Amino acid sequence: PTMAHSKALLVLENFIGGKFVPCSSYIDSYNPSTGDVYCRVPDSGKEEVEAAVKAAKDAFPIWSSKSPLERSQILNKLADLIEHDLEAFAQAESKDQGKTITFARTVDIPRAVYNFRFFASSILHHVTECTEMPALGCVHYTSRTPVGVAGLISPWNLPLYLLTWKIAPAIACGNTVVAKPSEMTSVTAWMMCKILEKAGVPPGVVNVVFGTGAKAGEALVCHPDVPLISFTGSTLTAQRIREKSSPHCKRLSLELGGKNPAIIFDDADLSQCIPTTVRSSFANQGEICLCTSRIFVQRGIYSEFLKRFVAEAKKWKTGNPLDPTTSVGALISKEHLEKVVRNYVKKAQAEGARVLCGEGVDPLALPPGNQKGYFMLPTVIAEVKDESCCMQEEIFGPVTCVVAFDTEEEVIERANGVKYGLAATVWSSNVGRVHRVARRLQSGLVWTNCWLVRDLNLPFGGMKASGIGREGAKDSYEFFTEVKTITIKH
Ligand code: NAD
Repeated sequence: PTMAHSKALLVLENFIGGKFVPCSSYIDSYNPSTGDVYCRVPDSGKEEVEAAVKAAKDAFPIWSSKSPLERSQILNKLADLIEHDLEAFAQAESKDQGKTITFARTVDIPRAVYNFRFFASSILHHVTECTEMPALGCVHYTSRTPVGVAGLISPWNLPLYLLTWKIAPAIACGNTVVAKPSEMTSVTAWMMCKILEKAGVPPGVVNVVFGTGAKAGEALVCHPDVPLISFTGSTLTAQRIREKSSPHCKRLSLELGGKNPAIIFDDADLSQCIPTTVRSSFANQGEICLCTSRIFVQRGIYSEFLKRFVAEAKKWKTGNPLDPTTSVGALISKEHLEKVVRNYVKKAQAEGARVLCGEGVDPLALPPGNQKGYFMLPTVIAEVKDESCCMQEEIFGPVTCVVAFDTEEEVIERANGVKYGLAATVWSSNVGRVHRVARRLQSGLVWTNCWLVRDLNLPFGGMKASGIGREGAKDSYEFFTEVKTITIKH
């Protein structure tokens, strides 16, 4: 049966110097909604990374000397080609990651397309600084040039979305790249490689090496000819990347985890706030770094909020991700699902918290084909202590905690009382309060009376353990270029 089975498997290859190349060993990749192995991913190491870095280095002189307009046209073409295959990309992302087809169709792939369009445009509009010193007869100006070979490492939760958020600005600025997607979600990156040539991306400009973090990722981080690493993933991995890259003094952009609070005051418009906060808690199975996992509700509206919030959460259907009516798909892996249930939901219960709906409380009915998938229901926990691991650690699953607060001062302190500082939401109809609270939250992003509304022009990134650096039109341009100050005396 293994032979017959293996014939049907999708086998990925590395993409190096414009060509697909097989690897000597492979890793199994699972379909999270069925529990079956359906794909084999190259288990690359030093050798493959070495070849990819060499290809990227060779391509750098020509690519970096192209005008921004030429690069812009290629990025736009690439965006068009991905958009043309949007449905195929969305199906693949859903199958590989477990996310719902609806989310892949409306969020992941459209955003991947937009990442290329956005940087194709923004690269045309940068201006550098210039100052004058008339008394000395001097003019100073800055010049920005691409850095070289960029190492790009991305996670499994928003595979193509986050990878293209790095590839697009890196190549728009004239760098060449070696990208390493998550070993758990490599398929859409491989599909993108198939259309690079048609888009006009010269060989070696985008190289993709598949494999694990420990082997392929670390080989990239340690490579002396990769001066820059853009990483999105966990805080723990980021620590390792900082250590490993430190002998080379690399430039690092680190987009890490979050433990994001929602702060709901008693004058909030609950008809907006409740559905949005259910979405911010459970979208993409709670596997978004920006997902809400601590909900602070002012005491006067606490019981009403809980009742309505739980009723809304129960409307979210969990099941086959390919069914367009499904809102919650499968978690990324069996291990991750077990961790979310054991380390968080069960632990909270043991500590005396109340699970109001979801895991262990409500029945989970799955279609016959999905019985072995990694599913859990959206879970709401109340009466959790602030020091509990459920309120301190990133859960990265469909679990959210709701607690009561009394005053503005108190809630700011409690919201800031975690090691992370990525995103927060504030709900109130009092504009003065919204400003006051937003200013004092230790968080790289604050959304008031909304969630996940992004203008890519503006900085994205986290404070504290949520990261170092920001990405966005100007921030990515600054990260992916080297600046020089030149003084001219006449
Ligand atoms: P992870 O840190 O385990 O892995 C991320 C990537 O790093 C993968 O490609 C992995 O193979 C690679 N990697 C692992 N060890 C490595 C090493 N030693 N050297 C080099 N590369 C290595 O994270 P994950 O589990 O894939 O993703 C989930 C995490 O990502 C969560 O913490 C989430 O909050 C975070 N995240 C952050 C953002 C953001 O923008 N701030 C966005 C999405 C996800």
